[in-house]
Amino acid sequence: MLSTHKLLINLNEAQTAAVTTDAQHSLVLAGAGSGKTRVLVYRIAWLLAAEGISPYAILAVTFTNKAAAEMRNRVAELLETPARGMWIGTFHSIALRLLTMHHKEAGLPKNFQILDSEDQYRLIRRVISDLELDEKQWQPRMVQSFINGKKNEGIRANEIDDFGDDNSSTLINIYQHYDDHCNRGGLVDFAEMLLCTHQLLLNNPPLLEHYQGRFGAILVDEFQDTNDIQSAFIRLLAGTKNKIMVVGDDDQSIYAWRGAKIDHIIGFKDLFPNTIQYKLEQNYRSSNNILHAANAVIKNNAKRLGKELWSQQGDGELIQYYGAYSEYDEAAFVAEEIDNLIDSGIDGDQIAILYRSNMQSRLLEENLLKHNIAYKVYGGLRFFERMEIKDVLAYVRLINNRHDDVGFERVINTPTRGLGNKTVNQIRNCALINQVSLFSACQILLKNNSLTARAAGSLAGFINMIDEFDNNHDKEQLNPLFDDVIERTGLRDHYQKEPPEKALTRLENLDELLNAAETFVKPQEDDQIGMTALSSFLAQVSLEAGERASDKDVPCVQLMTLHSAKGLEFPYVFLVGLEQGLFPHQNSMEDPEKLQEERRLCYVGITRAEQKLFMTYATSRRIRGRTQGCAPSKFLREVPEKLVNQIQGNVFTAPRGGMFANQDNSAFAQHQPGVLVSHKIFGEGTIIELSGQGDYTQIMVEFQDHGTKILAAKFAKLEVI
Ligand code: ATP
Ligand code: MG
Repeated sequence: MLSTHKLLINLNEAQTAAVTTDAQHSLVLAGAGSGKTRVLVYRIAWLLAAEGISPYAILAVTFTNKAAAEMRNRVAELLETPARGMWIGTFHSIALRLLTMHHKEAGLPKNFQILDSEDQYRLIRRVISDLELDEKQWQPRMVQSFINGKKNEGIRANEIDDFGDDNSSTLINIYQHYDDHCNRGGLVDFAEMLLCTHQLLLNNPPLLEHYQGRFGAILVDEFQDTNDIQSAFIRLLAGTKNKIMVVGDDDQSIYAWRGAKIDHIIGFKDLFPNTIQYKLEQNYRSSNNILHAANAVIKNNAKRLGKELWSQQGDGELIQYYGAYSEYDEAAFVAEEIDNLIDSGIDGDQIAILYRSNMQSRLLEENLLKHNIAYKVYGGLRFFERMEIKDVLAYVRLINNRHDDVGFERVINTPTRGLGNKTVNQIRNCALINQVSLFSACQILLKNNSLTARAAGSLAGFINMIDEFDNNHDKEQLNPLFDDVIERTGLRDHYQKEPPEKALTRLENLDELLNAAETFVKPQEDDQIGMTALSSFLAQVSLEAGERASDKDVPCVQLMTLHSAKGLEFPYVFLVGLEQGLFPHQNSMEDPEKLQEERRLCYVGITRAEQKLFMTYATSRRIRGRTQGCAPSKFLREVPEKLVNQIQGNVFTAPRGGMFANQDNSAFAQHQPGVLVSHKIFGEGTIIELSGQGDYTQIMVEFQDHGTKILAAKFAKLEVI
């Protein structure tokens, strides 16, 4: 038995009190980097080692699957033995597990399929068209957010009152049809996973009793970002007897747009009687300059529970501001600084670049590549979201579950097999009339000879091919199946025909998918509950798409959105694109509530940094095809000037209307894209792009002998030839 003394030696007084609490219900509400996640990990170890609770009784909810794996390892490290039997995972992975184990009770087929957000969007579009509604009026994204919003609140279509309003009644109708579709095909979207699990337990008292009896200790990290249904799920499992500890920080609530509500953490004490609350105030992560900057920014939010962090670490380095001429200059600066850091002996994985929007990663990636810096991107155009990968996976999903209509729609005519819109519409209609899946509709149409000879031949070929894949392959051996699919469906040839550069990346991606299939190891937990390697692979792809690492062997610089950086920490952090309209985001600038959420996001970003924080902005940026002058983010000015070193530009004196207010651009009027120019050193070239204005104008030129360069127009002295 591990000495409990050894456990507590690494905790401060407040943390020890929380870890060893006798309270049935406890809440740790504390700022960033104060050790909340650490408390949760130690609490699990404490429950096992000191209180003798069985690992089977532990249910811990984390924010990402990666965090779950880390938590499991940390507990094993602390206990010096792997603790099997614990359930640690995200809300979604826990829900998925329950649904898989109890699919019958949940009313799902054994091989039900997860719909990711894009799949869901496609299906909604189809429902809108089935109902003969106009997409312009019933915008699929809007409908999607309506449906998910309701599901996050735990509300089904038949539970919504339309109050006699036609608009509402149409939305409800779409929701209902969409759900009918999903039910017929065994399709489960992300919000449904949680709602369905909640209903599974709610409507099944013996099952609920079983799990309430099993999970004697429930622990939840990042509780400030739970939505209604997640909170209800936890409440249900906690019952009246179980221990529950939740930890969180109201200042880091950043998922309101996905239905998260701070109220759940604020109201926790009301729902769980005799809750003991613990406060942690010492920050162990960041040096004081970083911490003071974070405190100063978040102070501008009105709705706060209010807490200040302090650290025993010294002041550390100043925060580095860099005002770039353009987004190109910004990306070049970041890559160069990172190159210097790596040269000075720092590993790439100690460094993170955080941005507000996924689209910002592309230029950063390009510049890192130029410097040969290994990196990985979380989220964004994730590997598993790329077109060619989704095509292969759609086939595989159809092989796994014939009723997967989303997969069917994706590949019925990809690569083209002469099944045009007319036939596909016929299939859709037949499915609609008979209330069956598209695959079954094909079988009906073929049986009734309802198709032209050509369409029938082609469709029969498709159906047979899918059946043959299914019959010929072992569901435990993924690589041969995937390989066969890529070849026999003609997908490889199909992509080969694209322009060479595109074709190359697509084929490389297909090979990478084969690699993934080859190296896939079915997790023990999935095996125990009888999942095939194929189902397990598909489930992981859907759940973890954004978390996959591209290269495990090299320490990689990490690129991710601020949203996915929650809970993480890095010695060196680059927070980029701090401009009005980008961060805070355009959609949030006018709405005080949303602006506060943006500020919390900024607080999350700043508090990820341990030693050195760079904050950069561009004074011009190309957005939706137009280069615009940009004003530095207001958050930059909220950091006290004394904490900042301004490498280039000055946010504290910059004109608030943008750097280019009143800048005269006439000097470079001739320098338009396509114009031939000559440079004293680089020779002749063609202008590709102009950005910025006045003295800040930058010109990108493709030189005949020196490749592409970005030059400050004022100093480049380009001559038009
Ligand atoms: P966030 O709000 O960002 O999720 P957090 O409150 O969960 O942060 P942790 O990630 O648990 O904070 O801890 C921050 C860092 O401080 C970690 O590296 C952790 O190991 C370290 N730390 C926490 N408590 C202590 C302690 N008592 N002694 C030494 N290091 C500590
Ligand atoms: Mg944490």
